[in-house]
Amino acid sequence: MAAEKVQPKEFEKTPYFEACVPIEVLAERGRQTMQFGPMKPVGLKDPRTGIEPAAVVQLRTENIHRTCYNLVGFQTKLTYPEQKRVFRMIPGLEQAEFLRYGSLHRNTFINSPQLLMNPLQFKARGSLFFAGQLVGVEGYTESAAMGGLAGINAARALAEQPLITPPLTTAHGCLVSHVASSDPRYFQPMNTNFGLFPPLAKSPKDKEQKRRALSQRALEDFDAWKMQSRLS
Ligand SMILES: Cc1cc2nc3c(=O)[nH]c(=O)nc-3n(C[C@H](O)[C@H](O)[C@H](O)COP(=O)(O)OP(=O)(O)OC[C@H]3O[C@@H](n4cnc5c(N)ncnc54)[C@H](O)[C@@H]3O)c2cc1C
Repeated sequence: MAAEKVQPKEFEKTPYFEACVPIEVLAERGRQTMQFGPMKPVGLKDPRTGIEPAAVVQLRTENIHRTCYNLVGFQTKLTYPEQKRVFRMIPGLEQAEFLRYGSLHRNTFINSPQLLMNPLQFKARGSLFFAGQLVGVEGYTESAAMGGLAGINAARALAEQPLITPPLTTAHGCLVSHVASSDPRYFQPMNTNFGLFPPLAKSPKDKEQKRRALSQRALEDFDAWKMQSRLS
């Protein structure tokens, strides 16, 4: 927390996307915040001792030779010399050689609730569809989902067929609804999460069971929608 940070430029003074908060900002939220975030040790018992550590760092391979790794979840605005100093304090990384330093990434996205209609169609020019992260979603699967849907609807528009939207009870539908119906004044990108789904008529108390029921409903409704839209 005391390490030197790169000061934000004027245009960078916007809120962080909640899933990509810099680690030093997370650390400032509370001493245990990182243990419940990018350093969560759940399910990772040390095979030598059987003990679950207090916190872990996930190393993800960066190349096929398995000679470079990245520190997962370590977005940071620490200066480069400070990254080297601080991250070498992590047990096992004392001798680490740093090939590329951490930085924050910026998402470019349009104000979809204001600019788009139907699913992903530009209000000012109906033949133009927006896809992927640009519409205000975040993540690989979310972006691919919005790409698929934009493609399907662009093809339908060309064939003069009605455009289609997946039901609200599906992950696709939830994202489309977020993109289309959020308050344009506060619009921010969104990951898929269970909070986006409409509540179940009869919701199980247990969190895991509730998630299973939401997923089951989503899969069934998605299949029915595919059949109805002749997408199978
Ligand atoms: C460092 C980092 C880590 C991430 N980690 C994860 C993760 O672990 N899990 C996850 O789900 N998501 C992660 N994301 C987010 C994820 O990468 C994006 O949400 C997703 O890739 C967006 O997909 P997309 O196809 O919409 O856009 P992109 O993948 O950005 O693709 C857009 C493409 O358009 C090209 N392009 C741009 N302008 C032009 C132009 N004028 N002409 C032609 N081509 C152009 C670009 O070169 C690029 O290839 C991460 C993002 C970053 C930056």
